Amino acid sequence: MRFDILTIFPKIFNSYFQESLIKRAQKKNLIEIKIHNLRDFSTDRHKKVDDRPFGGGPGMVLKIEPIYKAVQFLMKKEKSPSFVPLRGTTAGRQKSKARIILFSTRGKKLDAKTAKRLSKYNQLILICGRYEGVDERVAKYVADEEISIGDYVLSGGELPALVLIEAVSRFLPGFLGKSESLEEIKGSYPVYTRPEVFSLKRGRQWAAPKVLLSGDHKKIEKWRRQT
Ligand code: SAH
Repeated sequence: MRFDILTIFPKIFNSYFQESLIKRAQKKNLIEIKIHNLRDFSTDRHKKVDDRPFGGGPGMVLKIEPIYKAVQFLMKKEKSPSFVPLRGTTAGRQKSKARIILFSTRGKKLDAKTAKRLSKYNQLILICGRYEGVDERVAKYVADEEISIGDYVLSGGELPALVLIEAVSRFLPGFLGKSESLEEIKGSYPVYTRPEVFSLKRGRQWAAPKVLLSGDHKKIEKWRRQT
């Protein structure tokens, strides 16, 4: 699976992708992550990617041109010459099984079901907004869907991109090793490890539940279901 990130802050991603499971998945060629600087797609002399909002108001808005050009460039590479960025249409896009996602506070909330659905695509193109947001025509004509990672406002779509990539990758066969498990949220339970009793000052003690040390797997399972 290939992830293409469109951002004006490409350096944000480097360290996270070079650690742990995400690093291993890239080494195993399970996933490929490409980070693209939107400025490289600006035709403007000054590499401008933003402009003032029509109608006034504070802040700047990311322009459509560099985003459109970047997406077109990426789709062409996927051998989709007929690419016409119109939401939910184009045969070429279906063939290459690519999905164009715009991060937005107004998008559909990311959950495990959505992550699982997205893990079925071959390529996800992730558009990270910044400032006051992105020219609405990107949502209307370029992106297939808009995704929010929660009801709060972040400064950009970069953290949402990290979150989405990790949530989606966990559904790819082979991403998780033996020591990690793909747990459904409903099936998750509290966990403990050594020491059995954590001793604090003045004789205070925090103990792990006895049942987990009982060796009685039926009881343990019951406890895990109940908590
Ligand atoms: N004024 C905008 C906020 C822009 S925040 C509004 O009220 O909607 C700048 C960018 O950060 C957004 O375009 C989006 O790409 C990203 N972003 C911020 N919060 C987000 C969230 N909770 N989920 C997904 N993307 C988010």
